[in-house]
Amino acid sequence: MPGNFRPFAFDRRLLPTPVDYYAGEGVRLFGRSVWRDALCPFHPDTTPSFRVNIETGAFRCMACGARGGDVLAFHMRRHALRFIEAAKSLGAWELEP
Ligand SMILES: [Zn+2]
Repeated sequence: MPGNFRPFAFDRRLLPTPVDYYAGEGVRLFGRSVWRDALCPFHPDTTPSFRVNIETGAFRCMACGARGGDVLAFHMRRHALRFIEAAKSLGAWELEP
């Protein structure tokens, strides 16, 4: 209904920082470089096959091929959410000014 229409929008600036986000997801990051190592949450992993970029939130697994460009992509994949659902879940879906 037009009268009830509320414009919402994704605001990337509201996404949690990658370090905080992955910590909250229980993905323990190892190392000191921009790309950190971790156990992959998408397949049974015994050696750290998973890599996370702590500046962009991008992730990729050298073993199972899981990959994405930011914490939103990770959140969608891990929790089987659509884009808007994931953005809301991460607090990055706000009323437009
Ligand atoms: Zn994997």
